[in-house]
Amino acid sequence: MMQKKTVKFYFALWLAKGSSLLLKIFRRNGTQLPGKLALKLCPNFLGMLGKPNTIIGVTGTNGKTTVCNMINDILTDNGYDFVNNKYGSNTNAGIVTTLIKGATMSGKSKKDMVVLEIDERSSNRIFPYLTPTYLVCNNIFRDSLQRNAHTEFIASILNKYIPKETIMIENADDLICSHIADNNQKIYFSISQLKTDTKECQNITRDIRVCPKCYAPLEYEYVRYHHIGKAHCPNCDYGTRKADYVVTNINLDNKEMTVQHQEQEEKYHLVSNNIINIYNMLAAIIVLKQLGLTREQINSSFAKLKIVETRFSEEEYHGYHIITQLSKGMNPIACSRAFDYVRKQPGNKVAIVVLDDTHVEANSSENTAWQYDTDYEFLKDDSIKQIIIAGPRYLDGYIRLMMADIEPEKIVHEKDLIEATEKIQLEGIDKIFILHDLYLIQEAKQIKNKVKEMIDQKSEERANEE
Ligand SMILES: [Zn+2]
Repeated sequence: MMQKKTVKFYFALWLAKGSSLLLKIFRRNGTQLPGKLALKLCPNFLGMLGKPNTIIGVTGTNGKTTVCNMINDILTDNGYDFVNNKYGSNTNAGIVTTLIKGATMSGKSKKDMVVLEIDERSSNRIFPYLTPTYLVCNNIFRDSLQRNAHTEFIASILNKYIPKETIMIENADDLICSHIADNNQKIYFSISQLKTDTKECQNITRDIRVCPKCYAPLEYEYVRYHHIGKAHCPNCDYGTRKADYVVTNINLDNKEMTVQHQEQEEKYHLVSNNIINIYNMLAAIIVLKQLGLTREQINSSFAKLKIVETRFSEEEYHGYHIITQLSKGMNPIACSRAFDYVRKQPGNKVAIVVLDDTHVEANSSENTAWQYDTDYEFLKDDSIKQIIIAGPRYLDGYIRLMMADIEPEKIVHEKDLIEATEKIQLEGIDKIFILHDLYLIQEAKQIKNKVKEMIDQKSEERANEE
């Protein structure tokens, strides 16, 4: 609902716009400041600010940025003109900053559409003033305990604040997120049973174990990871819901997936072989189809797309594969998914793990409980020949690896990232994984360069011997 604009609103808008201009002049990337300023001067600023007619929101624990990047890139590729918070923050201040950028001096929206990554923790400060046309919720998992508490809390604030007019696009394979905003219109998506699914859960963390209606233990037909899978309550009608869009086949050789919707099948080019990204793709496809794009338009854009390099990159270097992968610290599910991915990839591997929750940007030195919710046990695999753990938290990681019963001979633990990387053993290795935190993108690059140096050194030595 639009609120009537007050004098305070215009004052806040002009000041915020002025601050954006100043930031631009000084070449500072102000992704929060103008919004913070506007909200400080006029707390219900977001309610008075003009918004585009179509608002696409993406929320949930993991994959928000990737889903938004996919939607943004495909819309741009197809000539759409819209605003987004791609380079901005996903909290209320970031969203206000984005909308101010897309607004005129009188506070009217200049664009017809906006794509917003929305922090689930900030829903109480965003949804009272902004009604998404569509809201994607891909999953709800345990996240930073300090910030997000537990999944019931996150689900409860989403339930309380999501406007009833919003059409929800939810992952049916996630029992928590598929039961959010239950009185809203919904579109469900799912990936049908996979060969890799199991009968029992293999993870430490499972955020829903009993039926929230009658508290009977849930029965799983199959588990994919954590609480993702297909389940029902033996006592009442609670359980996994029927999906509207289903991935019925994933062909990794052809890099293709089949999506079924209303008895029609469509094939899409796979951007990644990681199951998480297949969920991300599916969510993006549904949004884009709702906006009227055809399979051909979406698919031809997917064929050009890559997962952003700061999140995932793979490079072949003198016979070695070097893979960098974002693994968010304090987020046990993101790290467990990354560890699982490493162990399941073919070849002999080294894993360099730098998860640093003491970094200033992380604004935290959270307790290390999350380390014990994370499946370090997945790194105990015959194909993983060496694990290098580094960074300020290297001792916490080392203890956790020892508790996972990993042979001490396999572990290098050292604080300095580069000195730790120098200890890499390349003999007989096919792949080197660099698993790094969100705040360590530059450091991951330095580690990658060091790995390349070590590979060069090794081929030189080999040449000298011959
Ligand atoms: Zn029940």
